[in-house]
Amino acid sequence: MSNEMMTLAKLRPEPGLWMDPRPVPEIGPDDVLIRIRKTGICGTDIHIWNWDDWAARTVPLGLVTGHEFAGEIVELGRNVEGLSIGQRCSGEGHLIGKTSRQSRAGKFHLDPATRGIGVNEQGAFAQYLRLPAFNVVPLPDEIDDEIGAILDPLGNAVHTALSFDLVGEDVLITGAGPIGIMAAAVARHVGARHVVITDVNPDRLALAAEVADVIPVNVAQEDLKSVESRLKMSQGFDVGMEMSGNQAALDQMVDAMVMGGRIAMLGIPPGKSPVDWSRIVFKAITIKGVYGREIFETWYKMIAMLENGLNVRKVITHRYKVADFQQGFEVMRSGRSGKVVLDWD
Ligand code: NAD
Ligand code: ZN
Repeated sequence: MSNEMMTLAKLRPEPGLWMDPRPVPEIGPDDVLIRIRKTGICGTDIHIWNWDDWAARTVPLGLVTGHEFAGEIVELGRNVEGLSIGQRCSGEGHLIGKTSRQSRAGKFHLDPATRGIGVNEQGAFAQYLRLPAFNVVPLPDEIDDEIGAILDPLGNAVHTALSFDLVGEDVLITGAGPIGIMAAAVARHVGARHVVITDVNPDRLALAAEVADVIPVNVAQEDLKSVESRLKMSQGFDVGMEMSGNQAALDQMVDAMVMGGRIAMLGIPPGKSPVDWSRIVFKAITIKGVYGREIFETWYKMIAMLENGLNVRKVITHRYKVADFQQGFEVMRSGRSGKVVLDWD
């Protein structure tokens, strides 16, 4: 193994990412070294590419970006047990502390000291990634590298979708981005009755209908109420998943919910937004904020569902060699893609 590797790093405070050679990371006793095979481009990476206010505030210059990956273990720290060289894996990109009350209670995803690879710590857009062995998730043979590379956002979708019981329920998803589309596929898989997904981008809605048996609704053109009557729904949606980050979508969702409905909210509004709380109170709606995924229960569930017929492959619409990463970021920024996967082999 040569001591140098190629990475995609944030070198300058302006739009873009840059190929940057770095030394292969040295691992500590509790870490593994992973040779990266495929990575997914996330909305977070687009924020970092664009260098918006959030990115400028959060991300240190010089950072190796990326947190969605699949690869193979090539080195084990001396304390590491239960993993082996050659093991194919993905992994949790949130590096958690072990001392908070939440961590000590086993609620790792609620640890306030969490740091993210590719956001606060060196990331996965690199030929090699150092990762605590604790964070490694081995991949079964049925899950290939490109699906392995999108388990992070699939985990967001699964965590959100499993927040409330969906069996036999009518489900509304606002926002047919990659995560909304995968959440729709999960809702179908676990036995929802109607799964309606909204967007204002026709390409995204067409993709949603290809990936899963869902009802796409372009809310720029069609009234959600007419869809409800077409589906013979009399009282509204039982469960909502907000996955657009758009205030208008949340308002529309609250409007379309049944009395006592439940909303899981993953979408991140860009700033403060006006919310009509009285409608939420009078409808007795429960709202749950969803961050990341449960470590490692969501990973367990999503791998089990993928082994049992959940199919989200069509959400990957573009594949590029890492040398062509510029094209991958361009298509993601255009909004005319689903997931974009980069090949590092
Ligand atoms: P995305 O930006 O690709 O998708 C959002 C979609 O919402 C787009 O297709 C957009 O056209 C659509 N949209 C805009 N206005 C709408 C409206 N009024 N009604 C319906 N749809 C509308 O995002 P993504 O990568 O799929 O992620 C979904 C959301 O989840 C984003 O807000 C993202 O920031 C957030 N996110 C949160 C977490 C977390 O841990 N909470 C993790 C990842 C992503
Ligand atoms: Zn991601």
